Amino acid sequence: MSIYDIAVIGAGPAGCMAAIQGAQQGKKVVLLERNNRIGRKLLITGNGRCNFTNTASLEVFLEKFSKNGSFYRDVFSKFSNHHLMNFFQDNGLDFIEEEGGRVFPSTEKAKSVVDILNNVLEEYKVEIIYNYRLKHLQKHSKVFKLISTENQLITAYKVVLATGGVTYKETGSSGDGLNIAEALGHSITEIKPGGVPLTVREEWIPDLKGITLEDVGLSLRSGGKIIPLPRGNLLFTHFGVSGPVILDMSHEIVEIMDKYGDVKLYIDFKPDVTDQDLEARFIEDFGRYSKRSLKNYLKYYLPQNMVGPVLKTFSLDPDKKLNQITRAERIQLQRMVIALPVTINGHLPLDKAMITCGGVSKKEINPRTMESKLVPGLYFAGEIIDGCGRRGGFNLQQAFSTGYVAGDSASALKS
Ligand SMILES: Cc1cc2nc3c(=O)[nH]c(=O)nc-3n(C[C@H](O)[C@H](O)[C@H](O)COP(=O)(O)OP(=O)(O)OC[C@H]3O[C@@H](n4cnc5c(N)ncnc54)[C@H](O)[C@@H]3O)c2cc1C
Repeated sequence: MSIYDIAVIGAGPAGCMAAIQGAQQGKKVVLLERNNRIGRKLLITGNGRCNFTNTASLEVFLEKFSKNGSFYRDVFSKFSNHHLMNFFQDNGLDFIEEEGGRVFPSTEKAKSVVDILNNVLEEYKVEIIYNYRLKHLQKHSKVFKLISTENQLITAYKVVLATGGVTYKETGSSGDGLNIAEALGHSITEIKPGGVPLTVREEWIPDLKGITLEDVGLSLRSGGKIIPLPRGNLLFTHFGVSGPVILDMSHEIVEIMDKYGDVKLYIDFKPDVTDQDLEARFIEDFGRYSKRSLKNYLKYYLPQNMVGPVLKTFSLDPDKKLNQITRAERIQLQRMVIALPVTINGHLPLDKAMITCGGVSKKEINPRTMESKLVPGLYFAGEIIDGCGRRGGFNLQQAFSTGYVAGDSASALKS
């Protein structure tokens, strides 16, 4: 049985890029995938449109991985967003840039990205073995022995583990690689969800299902501290809140909840108006439009279908006229417009998260090569590595960049 130069486990974006990079350098590469095709998760990214990178600068990229950022300085320099865009363009796929620097294929179809990867894998004659689910990985002298769940044995001098995280398990990413890395002595950091919708305690929230609030101000109160969140769009669901800002900040919010329990989220419907200006406006309006009902007045501040459920929580009659509202009630309404509180008490299950935060400890991976510091010749790429980035194309770029560097180092270095 011949020994492969490199065996790459997992044909997601990280594994495909690692295999392409190894094969481009003339190595005999085998790509092992448990599904019967490559890139199953890739196909559902960006709502099927695949936001594969972002035009942001290197410094912004590092910020998007918060405390994990500096680990990626080298990989994002060696294979940057521009390298990735060039890679797709050189292989016949154009791209478009949208708000926030997000980059999508010009076809707006994730399948186009998967097709390009398939073509390039074929061009460089990467051998792909489908329906191969790695179960055991052992190193004997200089050679790795790979054994599948069906006891199929493969041998290789170098191995790249790119089996992804543990979310959306039906795509094939169920955490096998984490168990395999652990069996080889690696530490796995605590697994937490990133990009996950949050659940809310208040019973009136399901009545708001489907309502999107645009460009609202948001802040949290937890452990006696007020924590401002970025402004943006918020979506109410039948269980709580979602939408760009929530998905982006969910990892941090989950960490806060783990420490302090439930957190209050405050929604500011008029983030450009100061408290004083709002009060002056209310006083003037309550005099000028004194015969108007509360429900008709508040629709200028809140979406109309939100007014009823919200007023109910304050035990205020929506048909009450403005001239019947007491001063205390008016102040209560002003507070509601600038800081409507809802209680975040949890999140959807891990499997519904867009990204896994946690994985193989970065302390045990060389940031310049992606090689294990514990097992020479073993490399990691993609979501299997501890930490996660924000939404906006940063996670796919992480997968492609770490895949590139792992494939490159596995081709170049002797172990
Ligand atoms: C709904 C959704 C939308 C997303 N949208 C975006 C987006 O628009 N932009 C963005 O940047 N990120 C997005 N992400 C995140 C992005 O999908 C991941 O960051 C990326 O797929 C990680 O790539 P990977 O190659 O590390 O892992 P994966 O894509 O998970 O690939 C891992 C591969 O390994 C295979 N595998 C697992 N175990 C074994 C085994 N034992 N043997 C053999 N093969 C195995 C799996 O079948 C899979 O094919 C999204 C995620 C989700 C869930």
